[in-house]
Amino acid sequence: MIKRQKILVTGRVQGVGFRPAVYRIAQALGLTGFVYNDTKGVTIELQGQEERIAEFLDRLQSQDKPPLADLKTCTVTELPAITGEDKFIIKTSDAEGSALSQVTADIATCRDCLAELFDKEDFRYGYPFINCTNCGPRYSIVKTIPYDRPNTTMSAFKMCDKCATQYTDVTDRRFHAQPVACGTCGPKIWLTNSKGKTIKTGTEDTIVEAARLLRAGKIVAIKGIGGFHLAVDALNDRAVKRLRQRKRRDHKPFAVMADSIERIKEYAIVSESAERLLKNPQAPIVLLPRKEDSAIAPSVAESVDTLGFMLCYAPLHYLLFAQGLEILVMTSGNISDEPLICTNQIALERLGCVADAFLMHDREIYRQVDDSVIHFIDDKPVPLRRARGYVPTPIFISRASCVVRDASEKEKQNTQYAIRNTHHEINSPKDIFAAGADMKNTFCFVKQNQLICSEHIGDLKDAEVYHHYIESIEHLQRLFGVEPKVVVCDLHPAYLSTQYAKSLSDMKVIQVQHHWAHIASVLVEHGLSGPVIGIECDGTGYGTDGAIWGCECMIVSLEKFERFGNLAYYDLAGADKASKEAVRPLLALLKKTYGSDFKLDEFMWLLERMETTSNNNSKLKTQNLKLISEQLDKGINCVKTSSLGRVFDAVAAMLGLGSHNYFDAQLPMALEAIAADGIDEYYEYEFIKEAGGPIQLDLSMMFRQLVDDVEKEWDASILSAKFHNTLCIAMLAMAKQARESTKLDTVALSGGVFCNRYLTNRLIQQLRENGFRVLFNREVPSNDGGLSIGQAAIAARAVTRRP
Ligand SMILES: [Zn+2]
Ligand SMILES: [Zn+2]
Repeated sequence: MIKRQKILVTGRVQGVGFRPAVYRIAQALGLTGFVYNDTKGVTIELQGQEERIAEFLDRLQSQDKPPLADLKTCTVTELPAITGEDKFIIKTSDAEGSALSQVTADIATCRDCLAELFDKEDFRYGYPFINCTNCGPRYSIVKTIPYDRPNTTMSAFKMCDKCATQYTDVTDRRFHAQPVACGTCGPKIWLTNSKGKTIKTGTEDTIVEAARLLRAGKIVAIKGIGGFHLAVDALNDRAVKRLRQRKRRDHKPFAVMADSIERIKEYAIVSESAERLLKNPQAPIVLLPRKEDSAIAPSVAESVDTLGFMLCYAPLHYLLFAQGLEILVMTSGNISDEPLICTNQIALERLGCVADAFLMHDREIYRQVDDSVIHFIDDKPVPLRRARGYVPTPIFISRASCVVRDASEKEKQNTQYAIRNTHHEINSPKDIFAAGADMKNTFCFVKQNQLICSEHIGDLKDAEVYHHYIESIEHLQRLFGVEPKVVVCDLHPAYLSTQYAKSLSDMKVIQVQHHWAHIASVLVEHGLSGPVIGIECDGTGYGTDGAIWGCECMIVSLEKFERFGNLAYYDLAGADKASKEAVRPLLALLKKTYGSDFKLDEFMWLLERMETTSNNNSKLKTQNLKLISEQLDKGINCVKTSSLGRVFDAVAAMLGLGSHNYFDAQLPMALEAIAADGIDEYYEYEFIKEAGGPIQLDLSMMFRQLVDDVEKEWDASILSAKFHNTLCIAMLAMAKQARESTKLDTVALSGGVFCNRYLTNRLIQQLRENGFRVLFNREVPSNDGGLSIGQAAIAARAVTRRP
C-alpha cells in the first residue's frame, strides 16, 4: 500500500547533518519526496510502501540518527499520495528562513576524524584542522546567517578538489560541513617567539618545537577553537608558578587537559558519569576530586579539593599531546578578568609578557568562547560556566520530561503528577531580551518557545567585558533573527546591565528581583510555572526594600513571588570592598551577635587570625579595624543585607582560611574544601517572627558557639562541617514552615551558594528525607550565569498572559 506522510521534526535538527541523513535513509529505502529546514525544525514529506515509511522513522530515531541531532518531537500527518514523483530531494530552506537553531555549538573532534588524523594513508593525516559534519568549530567561526561557508571565517580558504568533492557529496560525512579543509587548501599553523617573530613553520616542525618548549617548562600561548589558551606543563611547579605570576592570577585554580581518560585517572577520581561527561562532544572542563598522591603541581590549584580536567577537543591538541606530553595547564588566554583573547595580533600585544612562544593559526575566531565548566550535584552534571559546546544551543521552554529523565520511581510519580497540574506551554508572542546580571553575565533571548542563552560573558565592571557584552548581544540577535520588543533586567539600579536595558528605545522594560529570577531559572528548566517553595542562597542581589538580599525563602511562580523568610539582616560596610574583605562581614556579624557587649579589643585574637594566613598579602592594621568598626556603628556607607555568601566569608576568616576573596567565592570554596565528612553535629539558631513580616533566621547563637569553638582551637574541618550542617538544618526547618503554611511540597534551590557541593548535596538529601520534591539547576549555572533565563521566563510568562 502506497502512502504519503508529512513529518515535522523539532529539536536540535539543523546544522547537524540531519537533512543528509534523511536523504540517505530515504534513498536506501526507495522512498520519494523531499526534506527542508524551516523555522520550526525539519519538514519531511515521504511517499512509498507503508512499512518502509515506518522503517524510515525507526532508523531516523535510532541507528541512523546523526550523532549531534537531538529529536524533541516527531509529528506525522497523513497526506494523499501524489503521482509523477520519482526521487527524493533536499530542498533549499523555506523562504521564511531557518534561523531558529541553525547555528550549532563548537564540537570536539569526533572519533572518525581522530582516526583519520593519525592514519598515514589518509590525505588529512596530521592535519590540525580536520573536521566533519559531526565535529569541529561552528559558533566560534560564524559571522552571520545563513550558516554557509561564505558567512564563516572559512571563507578565506578556497576548497581544493578533494575537499570540494566530499563537501558536495550527500553520502559523505563532510557533506556541507562548512569548515571542511585539508593541508593543501585550509588553515595553517606556525610558531612565533614572544615578540611575534616566526620561529617555526610547517605543521610537523611547529608541533614538535611547541611540544619541546612545553616539556622544557616554557609557557606557550595556543590558539584553539574559542580563543587562546596559556599552556604549561602541569607537573612542573616552577613553570606553573611562573605562569601565575605573569598572568597576575595569584589564586584562581587552573584547568588541565589530557588526551585520554586513562591519563586523567592517574590524577583524579573519575566516576562513570564523569567519564561520560568528559567524553561528551561538548568536551567541558569537569571538576573532579583529585587523588591525594597526584603528581600535579600544587600551585595548579590551592585550597580547593577538586581540579578541573578536560580532554583534548581540537585536532591541534591531539597532535601536541602525541609528542609525549602528559598533562597541561590550559588556562584562558587573558590577563586577569579581561575577555578571552582570540586574535593573533592582540595575543601578541597582551600576552607577549606572559607566553614564551605562540602557537598561531590563520583560521580566524569570530566569537571568543570560553571552556565550559561542569560539576556534579546529587550525582548529576550541573554547569558552573556554560559556554563552548553548549552555546548557542537553545533551551526549550517547556520540556517537562527532563525531570522524569533521572528521577527515582517515587519522584517520577510526583513529577508526573506535578507536570499534569502545572506543566505549561510558553510560546512567547513577542521576542524578548533578558539582560542578565552584572557578575558572571550571560544574556538571553526568547524566540517563540526557545531560550537562546549567550555564552559566559564575564563581569561587566571591566570596560572591555562590557564592550564585549554589547557586541555579543548584537551578534546573537543577528544570528537568530530576534527582534525584541520587550527587555527584562535586574532590579538593581546600579547594574550596568540594567542601565543598558533601560537605554534601549522602543522597548517595554520589565525589572525582575534577582532571587526571583534565580528560582524562575529552575522552574523554566523543569517546564514548571510554580508555585513552589524557592530557597535562594547567594552572594548579593538587590531587594525590593533596597536592602541587599542573599538568603531567601520565597513562594515563587513565574507570575509573582512572596518573601516567606530570610536571613536576619546585618550591616555591610564599604560597598564593593565588602565582598572582597572578609573582615567587614565578620565585624558586622560579631557586633550583631554580641550587641553592646562587643568590644573590639576583646576580639583582636580572633581578627588577628586572618593576618597569619597564607593568602593574605596586605596586613590588617588595627587602625583599619577600628575604622570599619566605627563605620558600622555610625552606619556610614552601610547597607542592610541578608547575604549568605558574606557569612561564608566571615566564617572562613574566623577559621583562619584567609582574609580576602581574590577571586569570586575564594573563601567559601576554601571553607567547603576543608569540611570534614561524617559529621552530623550542628550549631543552634533561632527563627524570629515579627507580625506580618517574613521569618528571620538569626545565626547569633551559632556565632557565639563558633567563637567558643575557635577559642578552644577545635579542628577547623569539623567546625566547617558544623557550620554547613547548621545552614542545612535551618533551611530545612524554614522549608517545613513554608510547607505548613502553603501546602506546597516542591522546593527549588538556586543561587551562587548552591555551587557548594557539601551544602547542596546535604540539603537535597535532608529535604527528600522529609518528603519534599527537590529541583535544582541542571542546564544553566545556579550562580548569576543562570540569571538571564530566569528573567526571560518571567518576562515570557508576562507577555503571554497579557498579550
Ligand atoms: Zn569529525
Ligand atoms: Zn582540501
